[in-house]
Amino acid sequence: MSEEANPFESLQEQIDDASAYLDVGDDVIERLKHPERVLETNLTVELDDGSLERFRAFRSQFNGDRGPYKGGIRYHPNVSRDEVKALSGWMAYKTAIVGIPYGGGKGGIVIDPKEYSEKELERITRSFAKELRPFIGEDRDIPAPDVNTGQPEMNWIKDTYETLENTTEPGVVTGKAIESGGSAGRVEATGRSTMLAAREAFDYLGRDVADATVAVQGYGNAGWIAANLLEEQGATVVAVSDSSGAIHHEDGLDTQAVRDHKDETGSVVDFEGATDEFAGEELLTLDVDLLVPAALENAVDEERAHDIEADVIVEAANGPLTPDADDVLTESDVLVVPDILANAGGVTVSYFEWVQNRQRFYWDEERVNDELETVIVNAFDDLVDAYENNDVSNFRTAAYVVAIRRVAQAFEEGGVFP
Ligand code: GLU
Repeated sequence: MSEEANPFESLQEQIDDASAYLDVGDDVIERLKHPERVLETNLTVELDDGSLERFRAFRSQFNGDRGPYKGGIRYHPNVSRDEVKALSGWMAYKTAIVGIPYGGGKGGIVIDPKEYSEKELERITRSFAKELRPFIGEDRDIPAPDVNTGQPEMNWIKDTYETLENTTEPGVVTGKAIESGGSAGRVEATGRSTMLAAREAFDYLGRDVADATVAVQGYGNAGWIAANLLEEQGATVVAVSDSSGAIHHEDGLDTQAVRDHKDETGSVVDFEGATDEFAGEELLTLDVDLLVPAALENAVDEERAHDIEADVIVEAANGPLTPDADDVLTESDVLVVPDILANAGGVTVSYFEWVQNRQRFYWDEERVNDELETVIVNAFDDLVDAYENNDVSNFRTAAYVVAIRRVAQAFEEGGVFP
């Protein structure tokens, strides 16, 4: 395989591609290609055996022209400064394409969370929350879950922040458990927008997602919910994978039963309802109608893109296709619905959670799902409009045209300080 793409360079290339279609000055584009600031910190945390360990952690605040910085915190051994910078930029353009009043941010700790106990993870999270405290707040920067983080981490961040600030401010972080101020539908939101984006994409092609065969790479929160909701739409989920491997059944897998099997055994492999198993990467090049990459960045590079057989790719993960892969797929007429729209359900329902926190008034799941559908369908229509009216080469560039225009406009309306 060719050398792994640097996600920050990928982000900058995506912005450059779109800027050719925009009436925005190079000086403003230059601003929109870099984070406003990046916090890099070293956490010193006591482990269960009494020894100390140092953890590197980051928070990138990419752009705040449209509102407070917003985005998740991931725990992964491959977290790096450049990865967090890229992810924070993708958040800024994600919030812009779906039209919610936020900027973009992202954080991460360099850690393999499987190696630590729950108590250790709590101390590590609280230590990071203490470092973040001066930079976050419901009007400043609002963290959320991302890879390997979820409700427990968000509840600890909220508690640490509120304790240090001597206040109650549940909107300082989203993705919390319901009793800690979370929103109905938040856990499912990323998978739900992936399903909605797939439905709209097939509709755009004059096809019905109910007739589609589907392969899903990654069976974490986003991947499994997307698979489950696509199955509910009538689609046939023929293959799914996780870091241990891929499973396949031509007539379709029972997505809920696969989830139960993964909960019991730790992985999707050895699922008795599958007819065959293969290495995870092989799933990406299966002859299916719809491919959903729902794992990490760079799943499909230029070389692999040549072997893609799917007609439609809907990106549940952030940055799963390299820019070179995009060029190949555009050339071969594969319709790619970009991450900044397809997985925007997570941050959109985070926005609903934050609105509910501020109003101290909570919605039922039906209302959350209805409002989410409206946001995603409107954003998809804006993207198609930009695609058809600007003669851009693919949906990703169309999405950036819409998003960059909105961020640049907010910046120009505010003017330069000082
Ligand atoms: N981590 C998610 C994302 O990449 C959600 C972010 C949020 O809810 O703020 O979009």
